[in-house]
Amino acid sequence: MKILDGKKVAEIESLKLKNIVSSLPKKPSLAIIQVGNLEESNKYINNKIKKANELGITTQHIKFDENIKENEIINYINQINPKYDGIIVQLPLPSSLNKKRILDSIDPSKDVDCCNSINLSKFYNDDNPLFIPATARAIKILLDFYEIDIKNKKILVIGESDLVGKPTKKLLSYFSSHVDSTNKKIGISHANNYDVLIVAAGSPKLIKKNNVKNQAIIIDVGITIQDNKMYGDVDFEDVKDIVQAISPVPGGVGPLTVICLMKNLVEKLL
Ligand code: NAD
Repeated sequence: MKILDGKKVAEIESLKLKNIVSSLPKKPSLAIIQVGNLEESNKYINNKIKKANELGITTQHIKFDENIKENEIINYINQINPKYDGIIVQLPLPSSLNKKRILDSIDPSKDVDCCNSINLSKFYNDDNPLFIPATARAIKILLDFYEIDIKNKKILVIGESDLVGKPTKKLLSYFSSHVDSTNKKIGISHANNYDVLIVAAGSPKLIKKNNVKNQAIIIDVGITIQDNKMYGDVDFEDVKDIVQAISPVPGGVGPLTVICLMKNLVEKLL
């Protein structure tokens, strides 16, 4: 069984990116907007700030009270659109706010998270999108690093969210003609027919041995934090003896996703 070591790949990508950043005439800048004070969001944002600073990217973290009015956030984004190279809005937003209106107020050329309607439409309908959603990109980079050729493989993406499942299915469909996806309603009873499982359900230890084909390759995207411990969507101990390769949690897709966000930011400045 091979471990698909996302942390190691992230370190390699990080070095490459650091060199590119140091050759730029000015430091790239990233604004991170947060509404409210969710503990998981705080953690993700701290990770992004830490990684950005390591790479030589300047960051500004703007934190709004959860009772802020939608229009105030939109006005603020309109104001800062010209000032930063990249702007991200940390999700989830409080349910009282219209997520789409807020994300659509980011200038598409600054939307490094690839979340606004124009960029999503380009990603799904255009061969030459401005950005690739970071998690999908991270998954592809991990597969490429370990020279996993998916061309003739049957792939199942477990999860169909706008953030992870859907863009991953779309991206992998460029490289394999057999990519399916499933959701909570359809279930996973057929998962053991697939050569590759990309699991992004947000359900800790969902995938057991009986859901996995012998010698399958698994990318575990899930991140659930319980009692200060991080869990993936795959029961690693249960499946480890029958898989060909698996990405662990922590240390799999997560560290690479942050790098891909920074790649999106830096590459458009070249
Ligand atoms: P989400 O809740 O928006 O979507 C989950 C999807 O999985 C839905 O389509 C749902 O129908 C499906 N699903 C849930 N249970 C299922 C089941 N039993 N069988 C089949 N499908 C099922 O979540 P999301 O934003 O897509 O995130 C998914 C997971 O990935 C979470 O754990 C999240 O923390 C993690 N995540 C990781 C990274 C990373 O970089 N590693 C990035 C983003 C999200």
